[in-house]
Amino acid sequence: MKRNVALEDAQNMVLTMACPVKESNIPLFDAVGRVLSQEIKAPINLPPFDRSPLDGYAVRAQDTAKASEAEPVVLEVIEEVAAGHTARRKVTTKTAIKVMTGTPIPAGADAVIKYEDVTRAANICKIFYPLKSGGNIVRAGEDVKAGEVVATRGTQVSPALVGLIAALGFAEVTVYNKVKVAVISTGDELVDSSQPLRPGKIYNSNLPSLVAACTKLGAQITALGNVPDELDSIADIISLGLADADIVLTTGGVSVGDYDVVPDALARLGVNVIYRGVDMKPGSPVVAAEYNNKFIICLSGNPAAALITFELIAVPLIKKKMGLTSYLPARLEAVLDGDFAKPSPQRRFLRGRFHVTEGTNCVALTGEQSNGVLKSLVNCNAYIDVPAGSGRMHAGQDVSVLIVGDVFGQ
Ligand code: AMP
Ligand code: MG
Repeated sequence: MKRNVALEDAQNMVLTMACPVKESNIPLFDAVGRVLSQEIKAPINLPPFDRSPLDGYAVRAQDTAKASEAEPVVLEVIEEVAAGHTARRKVTTKTAIKVMTGTPIPAGADAVIKYEDVTRAANICKIFYPLKSGGNIVRAGEDVKAGEVVATRGTQVSPALVGLIAALGFAEVTVYNKVKVAVISTGDELVDSSQPLRPGKIYNSNLPSLVAACTKLGAQITALGNVPDELDSIADIISLGLADADIVLTTGGVSVGDYDVVPDALARLGVNVIYRGVDMKPGSPVVAAEYNNKFIICLSGNPAAALITFELIAVPLIKKKMGLTSYLPARLEAVLDGDFAKPSPQRRFLRGRFHVTEGTNCVALTGEQSNGVLKSLVNCNAYIDVPAGSGRMHAGQDVSVLIVGDVFGQ
């Protein structure tokens, strides 16, 4: 077991041990947000046939070569075809077939003229300008060619990808199963927010916030609730979590206080503790352990520390287990918007809001930065990575940030 490891080592140690969960076939309708465990190769061309992109007339371009405003070309309209149908007849010299948007191009035609550009009387239409061969024809395979790979394994399914996969004729896709996460909070002082607050107690905020964060990622969560600071209760509930979940998350009881018994519970369970302590503030007491290819991540109880270490340590693990191929937060350079007076003897992550103003990456502090403060996490979308040994920080200074939330919008 290693102690006080660098954040990157903490991430890598766990990530190298983790592999994606099993996979299942699911209806495409349920696939949004899930991660493909198969590559999607187009079995057909898209569109499947040459088609008209507009309502108009399919003609032979050569018949219109001499058309002008003064001397329009006159063609006989021999058929009208709606979308979803195919022409029964062929376009031959001096004839046209009326087509709609999406209609297959009738045989013999090599151009389509817009409905609005033609005058029509009975079965005669007049064309006033010459057309180019191939004009207004969407070719088969113009969007996707048969055999083309449209999505690779590890792609998270977006609504647009659902559409593309459906257009290629798939009703089901193979995706990684949802990662099962069991969430446990520990602490004698914690009360569920449905209960009255008694003296000395506080409402449990980490259980709901961690459950929410896992839900947002797309995990399947079991909220195992809160247990008191007792070795037996904690060992029992972690063991219950391990029975079904891929990852057990705990919060509280990992520091060095008299009642911080989570590490003892891990020892009692005989799990393989990977590291204890990460060299960062907040959240340094975090512990990671492995048992039968399942992981236990024990976060500090301080609300901000719990969420920040969740984001930097648990999220990459959950993402890798989900089958995603990119799991670490993006790092950007930004200009600090405001001062931070405290020096940072230890590496520190400050809660900030990243924004781009007049083309410059900027990051503003979101408020009070102590371990227990939750409010400054609410509008936080980036952590400012302050290296150990840094002094006071000043507005205008260049900083490195990790993006952990939406940069545009909420
Ligand atoms: P601990 O990590 O157990 O030493 O807790 C550190 C601080 O975080 C203490 O002030 C706890 O009361 C508080 N705390 C621990 N767990 C939670 C929780 N689930 N929700 C809100 N605050 C918590
Ligand atoms: Mg505690």
